[in-house]
Amino acid sequence: MLKITLLGTGTSQGVPVITCKCPVCLSNDSRDKRLRSSVLIQSETENIVIDAGPDFRYQMLRCGLQRLDSILLTHEHKDHVGGMDDIRAFNYTQKSPTEVFGERRVLDAIQKHEFAYVFANKKYPGIPQMNLNVIENKPFSVGNSTIIPIRGLHHKLPVFGYRIENFAYLTDMNFIPEEEFVKLNNLDTLIITALRTATHISHFNLSESLEIIKRLAPKRAFLTHMSHNIGFHEELCRTLPSGVLPAYDGLQIYID
Ligand SMILES: [Zn+2]
Ligand SMILES: [Zn+2]
Ligand SMILES: [Zn+2]
Repeated sequence: MLKITLLGTGTSQGVPVITCKCPVCLSNDSRDKRLRSSVLIQSETENIVIDAGPDFRYQMLRCGLQRLDSILLTHEHKDHVGGMDDIRAFNYTQKSPTEVFGERRVLDAIQKHEFAYVFANKKYPGIPQMNLNVIENKPFSVGNSTIIPIRGLHHKLPVFGYRIENFAYLTDMNFIPEEEFVKLNNLDTLIITALRTATHISHFNLSESLEIIKRLAPKRAFLTHMSHNIGFHEELCRTLPSGVLPAYDGLQIYID
């Protein structure tokens, strides 16, 4: 069984957006408040997060996670990696480095730019500890779990979505190569990026996401990585086909 917790469901700026006075950013509905997108996957043996953006610290406090085994990275954009310094807390309590999985380009960005101080020859005491694990587009193991990467394109940037058992998480993409679709058959739950209603250069918009959902026909689907332009959560719920809902921060999903 998997337990999925939506740690954040917002686009790169989160919702509300700093300085924005639009009705969605001013909404009192807690489901209209979206931290940067991330998801916690808990199996009997493993606690895995996909991405660790700038809200990672607060997300860990908010869900009360006591042990983190691994981080799977979709790509190197700041809203997906910016919070990784805060794995230190887990390093201290678990007395071990955090295992980080991503493709070569993404891990190079982590090592050379985003967190170069972690990999410096002379290390400052107390810095985060991470083991970088390079993955390719083929199944790999994280503890007792088998993870299947799903290739997507984020404008021209190759990114990975991930499938674990009958759950898949696809964010920050606006194209999925035809040969990848076979990996997404027979899903119980799909979480997929749906930035807004208008088209966008690097993200599926709402109608494009709904097309993918229709084709894959998972038992249920949730939208994530939403901007304030998607509208109110409550109103969006009423417009979606049955079996599709907007995700919201804190949502928990159980998969048999
Ligand atoms: Zn993003
Ligand atoms: Zn706004
Ligand atoms: Zn991105």
